[in-house]
Amino acid sequence: MSHDRVPRRDFLQCTAVTGAAWAASSLQAAEESRVQPAGAKSGVGVLETKTDVLVVGGGTAGTVAAIQAARAGARTLLIEQGSQLGGTMTVGGVAFPGLFHAWGKQVIAGIGWDLVRETVELDGGSLPDFATPPPARQHWLHQVLINPFLYAVLAEQACLEAGVSICYYEFPLAIESAADGWLVDIVGPGTRRRVVCSQLVDCTGGADVVGLIGLARLRDEETQPGSMLFKFGEAFKAGRERMSAVYVHGADSSNSVTRTQANLTGRREILAQLRARHARGEKNVRLGQIQPEAAFRESYRIQGHTVVTHDDYVGGRVFDDAICNAFYPVDLHTRTGVVPKPLQEGIVPTVPLSALVPAGSRRLIVAGRSVSSDRLANSALRVQATCMATGQAAGATAALAAQSDSTPLDVPLNSLRELLRQHGAIVPTPQPITLSP
Ligand SMILES: Cc1cc2nc3c(=O)[nH]c(=O)nc-3n(C[C@H](O)[C@H](O)[C@H](O)COP(=O)(O)OP(=O)(O)OC[C@H]3O[C@@H](n4cnc5c(N)ncnc54)[C@H](O)[C@@H]3O)c2cc1C
Repeated sequence: MSHDRVPRRDFLQCTAVTGAAWAASSLQAAEESRVQPAGAKSGVGVLETKTDVLVVGGGTAGTVAAIQAARAGARTLLIEQGSQLGGTMTVGGVAFPGLFHAWGKQVIAGIGWDLVRETVELDGGSLPDFATPPPARQHWLHQVLINPFLYAVLAEQACLEAGVSICYYEFPLAIESAADGWLVDIVGPGTRRRVVCSQLVDCTGGADVVGLIGLARLRDEETQPGSMLFKFGEAFKAGRERMSAVYVHGADSSNSVTRTQANLTGRREILAQLRARHARGEKNVRLGQIQPEAAFRESYRIQGHTVVTHDDYVGGRVFDDAICNAFYPVDLHTRTGVVPKPLQEGIVPTVPLSALVPAGSRRLIVAGRSVSSDRLANSALRVQATCMATGQAAGATAALAAQSDSTPLDVPLNSLRELLRQHGAIVPTPQPITLSP
């Protein structure tokens, strides 16, 4: 079946609006129309959507990226292959985001933090005592226990209120660059969509979009195990407890085949544990909760303009183009488990904008666990508070790049930082460069 191409004239009309005109037009949602390919059966059409920013992946980072882009005035479309927002946090069941605080003060705030706090409040939960730094290796005391069902609903509401157009059950099949942006072919059950956009934001967790475009990605031979979360006993008390988990060795989010394999392995292991309990005479043990999908710790990371190294991370390097803080022990899971390595007192690492931008790319930015970093640095950068902070930075950058019809690394850092601060984010301040006389 052939696609009718979006006339190039229309694409330019979509992206070339600037300044006040852009701000006014941007209050509209993404524009949508249906075209009938020649010879297609009646009812089969291609949806054509024009937008400024296309965010792919509505997980921990993507939800925040989309809200930020839309609040900054960009027409924003969010494509999520699943049926709800939150990704690993909600579908994966890892509903204890961290860490927003370090050494007695808040280091990550903004849209993600507001959603987390709102979820706790509406759920009648409580926040940890952030004023007291937890003892070493008890960093989890500062993770925030949230109700993942409520978080998914509140995140969706915040997207809609910001003007984000959400498309569930859809994923990109092919991406072509155009002089002023991208043409993206997207599919979902009964849906074919062609999106014309100025900027792409890859929040798929495994840099799927970057891979589809054919840009370099990083991946080591050994990867951390994934986990499938579940609970034996009474029904799961959302927002009040954590679930149990089994390791899923070899879990890989790269494609539907490997994702299926991870789910099969995780469920088989949980079933085996249940049967073993019954065989030991514990006949009353029931499966009270099992998450619909395995959760993934590691697959691809992007090869960015900057690769954050372990030394950068543990040394608390403040990059010149830092756009957010990060805080978590180095936390590399292996076949035998994990021994988190806490940061030295006072250290707060940062993430540079150039680690969100794939080398050799234009009009493309990435957020979440696939930011450009070596394996050890990534084992810490992948946590949810940092994913949310990079998501907000990516959304703001994409909105500004669309506004100026440019590319993320051309966005003036001062404007980006100002926009982020206006939307509640905490942005690290690099030391001024001192020139020797
Ligand atoms: C078992 C486990 C325990 C963890 N423990 C903690 C913890 O204690 N504290 C903490 O803060 N962090 C923890 N983490 C890390 C953290 O949860 C994740 O790294 C983080 O949530 C990843 O966020 P993300 O936005 O990059 O990806 P995700 O949240 O996974 O979101 C990716 C989204 O993209 C969608 N998607 C993927 N591909 C496509 C595509 N091609 N098209 C459309 N949509 C697509 C997915 O459906 C998903 O919704 C843990 C992770 C795991 C797996």
